[in-house]
Amino acid sequence: VDANTPFSQLMDALDDVVEKPKKGECVVYWMRMADLRIHDNRALSRASDQAQKDGIPLIVLFIISPQDYIAHDRGARRIDFTLRNLALMKTSFADLHIPLQVVTHFQRKTMPYCALSFCEKHGATTLFANIEYEVDELRRDLEICKLAAPKGIQANFFHNKCVIEPGIIVTKQDKAYTVYSPYQRKWIATLNANIPYYLEECPDPVANDENVRSSKIFAQLFDTRVPDYIEGFRLDDADREKMKEVWPAGEDVAAKMLDAFLATKARTSQLGAVDPVACGAEASDKASRVLKYGSERDRADRDTTSRLSLYLSSGVISVRACVRASMVKWKTSKVDDNRNSGVGRWIQEIAWRDFYTNVLAALPRVSMGRPFLEKFADVVWEKHEDSSGNDSEALKRWKAGTTGVPVVDAAMRCMNEMGWMHNRARMIAAMFLTKDLMIDWRVGERYFMEKLIDGDLASNNGGWQWCASTGVDPCPYFRIFNPYSQSSKVDPTGEFIRHWVPELRKLAGPDLHNPPTVTAKKLGYPLPVVVHSESRDRALRRYKNPGEE
Ligand code: FAD
Repeated sequence: VDANTPFSQLMDALDDVVEKPKKGECVVYWMRMADLRIHDNRALSRASDQAQKDGIPLIVLFIISPQDYIAHDRGARRIDFTLRNLALMKTSFADLHIPLQVVTHFQRKTMPYCALSFCEKHGATTLFANIEYEVDELRRDLEICKLAAPKGIQANFFHNKCVIEPGIIVTKQDKAYTVYSPYQRKWIATLNANIPYYLEECPDPVANDENVRSSKIFAQLFDTRVPDYIEGFRLDDADREKMKEVWPAGEDVAAKMLDAFLATKARTSQLGAVDPVACGAEASDKASRVLKYGSERDRADRDTTSRLSLYLSSGVISVRACVRASMVKWKTSKVDDNRNSGVGRWIQEIAWRDFYTNVLAALPRVSMGRPFLEKFADVVWEKHEDSSGNDSEALKRWKAGTTGVPVVDAAMRCMNEMGWMHNRARMIAAMFLTKDLMIDWRVGERYFMEKLIDGDLASNNGGWQWCASTGVDPCPYFRIFNPYSQSSKVDPTGEFIRHWVPELRKLAGPDLHNPPTVTAKKLGYPLPVVVHSESRDRALRRYKNPGEE
């Protein structure tokens, strides 16, 4: 894999043998935004191990970095969810006499200094963290490696996000895979050949000695608070309450959702219950969805998927725990990747998550505003804002869910309201923006990050570039979704549209998916913002001849 990437450079830096530092006063675990859990957390577990060996306390640091959140288009909902989890963990850590200190540090460039001065202030000579694969984060960790050793601090980094960490599944030429199927085949073979290594559960951290609470250096850390909000990212009260209700914080919630999703026996009275509005924890109380996952995962009008994306992208649940649970529940000795079984199909989706993270680490330009397929860099996009930076009419209507195309509007309103959207609905909404409205995929990518509570750079970028036909293993540019025929496939009962677009609730059948002009006018529903057949021709022309109108 390209030696010049920050990922490769960090891997090389970690290979350098750093002299074992002198025993310090404590060990620091630096928790990041994607590892918000206590159980099965590699860096935390190893930090605890070190603290036990040295007979010193473990302390936990979390750095809030507003400038970083701005640079990464972090949405306020995701940040609010982070704070809610930190507040819960503060209590759980305190039960183990482990203090969790949340500090705010605005400047992203000086974050390494912030972390290292925290170590110095508390006399730590070892720092532990899990790796984040975004390019700026990798550069930050490289900087830490450089700065730590001269200060007598040993920085230790661990892979924790993926089932198989980036850089392992490579082609014969030692390159990153840019096509999913061969990656996935090698992924499953590698995993099944090394199950104990990849799926091993890390021991929980051991409690500190109770005396830590009265120690001069550490006692005050227990008294600090997790802020309720971050200036510039504050949700309005109604949205916050809604997010709290639909997406509760906590490892136990995520574990319960996983358990319900993988239940081996369907609670038959509820199996197949149509609940297109159920999201998050609400949905988790329904019957085993994995049973129908293979055949019904593309249905937006059924709650057949796990809804675990938020808990996975925030690290509230371990992806290893998800795979282990699938094996235990379904009594298999190998990880199942059979497309025809519900659980096997689900594991393949987990592999997509690894795939896109691998791409992000190996080909960082995909997240730096460049299309992976450079040949499409010059595709001509429609203007999406005026000279004052206001959204164009078409973009406004897409964002608000008033395009006049029911399935697109249902999808967008669902995300605006709940912070989550079904995978197939994401594909339809993204394809509509890029091909029907011919608006730059980067505009949509940013809006999804703003509204989604599960926003994850690797998966979001991968999904958008798939739909825009510019990414690794993308949808070919000439395969443009017809939103009306897609609509009847993802929402055959019409429940999804009727719920999210109540103007149309009295309609059924083809009229619901594509309301006749007279009917739409009567119901006060907008007429389509574009004519699909015409905009399809425009997209084909522009993709075929990048640079030309
Ligand atoms: P399940 O169907 O239960 O799948 C289990 C897990 O596998 C998911 O929780 C997720 O972690 C992973 N997964 C499933 N599908 C994909 C996929 N296509 N790519 C990568 N991982 C996948 N996912 C995010 O987590 N964050 C995002 O910001 C995000 N943005 C997307 C944007 C677009 C345009 C598209 C097309 C897809 C995006 N996805 C994103 C992927 C996918 O839509 C969601 O992960 C999925 O809908 C979450 O629902 P679930 O948890 O019920 O998934």
